[in-house]
Amino acid sequence: METFSTDIYEIWSQSKNIVISTHSNPDGDAIGSVFALAMAAAEIGAKPVVLIEKYSEKFDFIKGTEYVYNGNLDDLKPDVFIAVDCGSKNRLGVFESFFDKANVTFNIDHHISNENFAQNNIVLGNSSSSCEVVFEIIKNFCTLDKFIAEALYTGIVTDTFGFKYNSTSKNTMEIGARLIEFGIDFSSIQDKVLYEHTTKEVEVFKKALDNFKIDDNIAYTCLTADEIRECGASNSDLDGIVEYILNIKGIDVSVFVYEKGDNLSKISLRSKKADVNKIASVFGGGGHIFAAGASFNGNVQTALDSVLDEIKKELDKDE
Ligand code: 5GP
Ligand code: MN
Repeated sequence: METFSTDIYEIWSQSKNIVISTHSNPDGDAIGSVFALAMAAAEIGAKPVVLIEKYSEKFDFIKGTEYVYNGNLDDLKPDVFIAVDCGSKNRLGVFESFFDKANVTFNIDHHISNENFAQNNIVLGNSSSSCEVVFEIIKNFCTLDKFIAEALYTGIVTDTFGFKYNSTSKNTMEIGARLIEFGIDFSSIQDKVLYEHTTKEVEVFKKALDNFKIDDNIAYTCLTADEIRECGASNSDLDGIVEYILNIKGIDVSVFVYEKGDNLSKISLRSKKADVNKIASVFGGGGHIFAAGASFNGNVQTALDSVLDEIKKELDKDE
């Protein structure tokens, strides 16, 4: 890790245009990682530029947004491109072409399915979150401050559900302790990120529960684009649905599918035992053993039928 940090420090301090980006529909880990990296790069005198899709307003407290690029995308010529929390290059979505244009590329991540698609791949599959990996890198050359600590803490609590998932290690806890020392309001961050909901999130949650079904030990639900719109919600308001239905007693795997675009569906999978990363990979997706996802070319019902078939095959093998 220290070798990587030295390389990164040297490359960053000599580069003009450092572009930092993450996966489409960014979650707290993606947002925290991107802004922590940007603030760290700025701290050592580099000029970072962040490319990130619109994200939920619950993360608006995270600082560093002055680095978000708001110029003309055609004028952007990155020297260095850093993809973070992004298991495969195509998850960069609309920003993928800038990765291809950069002279030096980095891939900083914690997904076991990561495709090592960059020149420099810093992928720690045992880390709780990309923010944990970012902490390990930047602590070696940057003076951390309260704003960087808030961003990193946000990513860690998002991906571990407040240090609860078993991806949480002793190191994760120790990093949490180091971040708390900066005087961050950790309780309020957990409230904002994990517990507070907007009315539209509750409305769309209610709709998802209307559509909910159980098949043996699999719980599943789905939402069409019209249903999401009718609730006044958007795709960044759908957090928590797939986790909620996994928590039903006796359920081993949960599935949530929503219509992302014309003939395009997004599949989310969660599990208590089965390897859902393997199931997601059948559809060209990935993630972690107990939390994974994929995009699917087809409508919501076809996506749901196909993924349920795959899950049943996988669960049958285990019996
Ligand atoms: P979510 O269901 O919250 O969208 O994603 C769960 C996990 O699976 C996350 O770690 C996420 O990065 C990963 N994931 C979700 N969708 C995709 C996808 O289309 N491709 C890959 N490679 N990973 C995904
Ligand atoms: Mn993550």
